[in-house]
Amino acid sequence: MSNEPKKMTTSFGEPVDDDQNSITAGNPGPILLQDIHLLEKLAHFDRERIPERVVHAKGAGAHGYFEVTADVARYTRAKFLSEVGKRTEVFVRFSTVGGERGSADAERDPRGFAVKFYTEEGNYDMVGNNTPVFFIRDPQKFPDFIHTQKRNPVTNLKDPDMFWDFLSLTPESVHQVTILFSDRGTPATYRNMNGYSSHTFMWYNAAGEYNWVKYHFKTEQGIRNMTAEEADMMKAKDPDHATRDLFKAIERGDYPSWRVEVQIMTPEQAKTYRYDPFDVTKVWPHSDFPLIAIGRMVLNRNPENYFAEVEQAAFSPGDFVPGIGPSPDKLLQGRLFSYHDTHRHRLGPNYALLPINAPKAMPLNYERDAAMSSGPTAAGAPNYYPNSFHGPAPDPAAAPPAVPVGGVAARQTYNHPNSDFEQAGVLYRVVMTDAERAHLVSNLVGHMQGAQQRLQYRQAALFFKADPEYGQRVAEGLGLDTARVAALAAMTQEERVKATAE
Ligand code: NDP
Repeated sequence: MSNEPKKMTTSFGEPVDDDQNSITAGNPGPILLQDIHLLEKLAHFDRERIPERVVHAKGAGAHGYFEVTADVARYTRAKFLSEVGKRTEVFVRFSTVGGERGSADAERDPRGFAVKFYTEEGNYDMVGNNTPVFFIRDPQKFPDFIHTQKRNPVTNLKDPDMFWDFLSLTPESVHQVTILFSDRGTPATYRNMNGYSSHTFMWYNAAGEYNWVKYHFKTEQGIRNMTAEEADMMKAKDPDHATRDLFKAIERGDYPSWRVEVQIMTPEQAKTYRYDPFDVTKVWPHSDFPLIAIGRMVLNRNPENYFAEVEQAAFSPGDFVPGIGPSPDKLLQGRLFSYHDTHRHRLGPNYALLPINAPKAMPLNYERDAAMSSGPTAAGAPNYYPNSFHGPAPDPAAAPPAVPVGGVAARQTYNHPNSDFEQAGVLYRVVMTDAERAHLVSNLVGHMQGAQQRLQYRQAALFFKADPEYGQRVAEGLGLDTARVAALAAMTQEERVKATAE
């Protein structure tokens, strides 16, 4: 900010004569209603807070760019991916999930990893996490799952019973729970973690041929995590450590970067793949679908106004550009609705007009008015379609390819034969080192010991199903009878729930 003296004005641009003394009748005297400057100042202050995000409330963000490093034009017609060397501006927001806006950055939690690409064809948002999978696959379960990560409605405290009751009743969560309670659940900073789309998306080319893709953003700073003890110490020492780290790194010119990679599956491969390609609780093993590097993302500019740029940033997995579309992933289908909807609640119906959310090209359509409408959206054009006054018209060339769907409309139990436990077992047995396994077990024991013993048994049995040693070690750490855990693991989920009822 320049040091030249500046004149204070009201929000309506009128000069302010005095900002320290209210207008009173007499001295000291009561205040008069005619002190409009005071009234406006208080009224605006009263409205400073907007609803915080119901999830991902605490976050940090930065601007940067994405650069294409490989030719992917045969897979997608997205213009921002059309040629090697092409750069697109991005805005990225990292976050924790369960805590409030003032919560500590070092909490054990997945981290949000949301990228907005400001492309010439509109904004494309990749709204991912630092984990390649999620706890549940049906959005019907999402509000309940989140309630269990929040505060008990009676005590207003985090509640291990709620947490482990829900998860042990939701066996598909065991893969993500294993990642969350590994040291990757407490990344050292936002710069030292990967980002994943988790969901599968569609890429289609100019000829309308499509494939399924998953995105991986691999940190070029290297993965660094905190142990549970280090994270606990950090929460006490600096609850904002990751926010601070990101801002300071960019301020000193140490720009964080990620290699962007994709996995690509053809529709034919999807039909016969042993895992459901649209099940967000599963990864596609790299040996089946190798990572293909397609670009690099660099963050090189801090926000100037946290509220305007980070708090008001509105990402949605439903923001696509031609060349990229949704998949039948059920959790994604729920998110396609929920993100736009929550922004309307949080920021108002015209949130897309805010500078941080506004696309580079002016939106042209027949949506009109509503609270905080601003700018010449389709100025001078008619407000209805079809019209014969040269109003904006749809472009059939923007259509995504037609995809076959069919079947019986009903609430249907998920019955794909892929196991909910296998990939968690591989992670434990094959990917983790001895030290990582030991941390995983002690992190779980530390959290689960706050829950009722019957819930500990039910959850330990799920770990046992992923890998008997895994379940046994958690059971031993909790002082449970390991034979009973093995017996519970051999039951169906229904029998297990009955055997561990209150
Ligand atoms: P690979 O051996 O090819 O890769 C293992 C992957 O696991 C790497 O991407 C590695 O990330 C990541 N990883 C290492 N430690 C952890 C951890 N504590 N939590 C989460 N991820 C971790 O394995 P596969 O592709 O055959 O998959 C085996 C298992 O690895 C999966 O069941 C899944 O649990 C996990 N995984 C797989 C991913 C995938 O997309 N295939 C992605 C991430 C995890 P990095 O290389 O960045 O260190």
